[in-house]
Amino acid sequence: MVDTDTPRPEHRGMHDTKTPQGANLGQIRHDWSLAEVEALFALPFLDLVFHAQRIHRAHFEPNTVQMSTLLSIKTGACPEDCAYCPQSVRYDTGLERDALMEVAAVRECALRAKAAGATRFCMGAAYRSPKAKDLAVIAEMIREVRAAGLETCATLGMVTPAQAEQLKTAGLDFYNHNLDTSPEFYGEIITTRTYQDRLDTLEAVRDAGLKVCCGGIVGMGESVTDRAKLLLTLANLPEHPESVPINQLVQVPGTPLNGAAPVEPFDFVRAIAVARILMPRAHVRLSAGRETMSDETQALCFLAGANSIFYGERLLTTGNPDVQRDQKLFARLGLKAETRPEQAAAAPAATDRAHVHETRPATA
Ligand code: SF4
Repeated sequence: MVDTDTPRPEHRGMHDTKTPQGANLGQIRHDWSLAEVEALFALPFLDLVFHAQRIHRAHFEPNTVQMSTLLSIKTGACPEDCAYCPQSVRYDTGLERDALMEVAAVRECALRAKAAGATRFCMGAAYRSPKAKDLAVIAEMIREVRAAGLETCATLGMVTPAQAEQLKTAGLDFYNHNLDTSPEFYGEIITTRTYQDRLDTLEAVRDAGLKVCCGGIVGMGESVTDRAKLLLTLANLPEHPESVPINQLVQVPGTPLNGAAPVEPFDFVRAIAVARILMPRAHVRLSAGRETMSDETQALCFLAGANSIFYGERLLTTGNPDVQRDQKLFARLGLKAETRPEQAAAAPAATDRAHVHETRPATA
């Protein structure tokens, strides 16, 4: 007689949500330790991806991806020295500079992005921090893009609390400002602003009531511990960013990081999976670097919990898979575009409500 109550060996551990440290995965936490995060990176690949996908389904509609389009509204001549960036004035990359775009031209681009299926329109400008007269024009762009029915996001460098308020008043939904890497590795990549400067901008943005888009870059020569520390820093912020872009370095000739050892695809997927586990309600964006990624690697990233992409033929200044390739990939994988991002993130799926808990540090 077959004993149907005894789990078969291959099913044991199916619902085990413990890491080696015993953390109950799936909780919303802000008190992660480095040892816990490193232990996640060290899990067997399939276990890590399994946990990430399970947690993903507890918080989001499966098979659904949020689509953002990114437009460079002011290109090049940036005084900062980010070692990966062709827009820095310090590196000879042959990039053509462009002054701040006209509002009407930005509106046209937004309408085209919406017609192509994007729900969020991100405007990027290569500034250390925006000047008052430019910010007034950008505020007008934000109003126009919002009026076109798109969520709005801006990435303009460092902003003060007053500038963040101005952007919020104009109707901005998200502000992007990446931490890029760990606090320890950061000085190898950027010397013209500090990690604390970045954290201060994030705080100003959050205090103004804007949603935060903040992530980093994999493949700059950082260690796995640096990746763990970046994600730890993000996860232990008083509130998790609503959007977490995970970029794969796009190597640009003329920048100091051109020629860096390429990141192994499974290692990139691991970073996505750990981001998903640490920040269960965030949209984890499979961001720069998709152009050179195989369809299979992208599929693994979606399996590991990525649920947002940049959609369109250009990122700020580097390539992105063209729209047709993305549409074909979505069709092959049975993915669909997210149409109502707020509601998708708001309610956990009924099947996994038991895993949704909120624990915050005493300081939060
Ligand atoms: S990443 Fe931004 S701040 Fe850094 S050099 Fe490029 S445009 Fe300037």
